[in-house]
Amino acid sequence: MKALIVVDLQYDFVPPDGKLAVPGGAELPEKISNLCEALKKKGFLIVGTQDWHPRNHGSFASTHSKPPFTMGELSGAPQMLWPDHCVQESKGAELDSLVKGHLEKVIQKGTNPAVDSYSGFFDNNKNGDTGLNDYLQANNIKKVYVCGLALDYCVKFTCLDAVALHYDTNLITDLCRAVTVQGGIDALKELKLKKVKLVDSKELLK
Ligand SMILES: [Zn+2]
Repeated sequence: MKALIVVDLQYDFVPPDGKLAVPGGAELPEKISNLCEALKKKGFLIVGTQDWHPRNHGSFASTHSKPPFTMGELSGAPQMLWPDHCVQESKGAELDSLVKGHLEKVIQKGTNPAVDSYSGFFDNNKNGDTGLNDYLQANNIKKVYVCGLALDYCVKFTCLDAVALHYDTNLITDLCRAVTVQGGIDALKELKLKKVKLVDSKELLK
């Protein structure tokens, strides 16, 4: 069985109003919605992840009284400090309405204020388990396709954990966007090295 994992397609990551808007992110909801529709007909399981932070989360620059997009520290580990984003129950934390209805399961992450969670599978310290692996296992999923936001953070780390968990892991390169151009280039290089297959959504629709 195959699954599509849609990473963090939430209003705070989508321009122009998102608090942590990823450049080009507004191009994705409609395209991903169309892909979900097509893949559902092919029997894919469609799963979404949702960044779901408590107020004063440790990844927020405001929590540390520092400027956003600078490096800080969280629970002893280096941490990129972000603008406040995806605060639980806020509009920005909601999944994009075009995609939400297609998701058979939503996996929330980033709920522990003391650690960030880029991957849809585990917290950044690899301790907290979101339940995504159990859900995929329960559905006999062997192959995953990953898309969404942002390529250089949550999409990348979701792919790396999927490979480590022995899924046949495919990144849909045209349905991701990165926080920075260089970050996106580096992420693609790293994922290729780690044996993540880079595919175009057109190949999936054949
Ligand atoms: Zn976050």
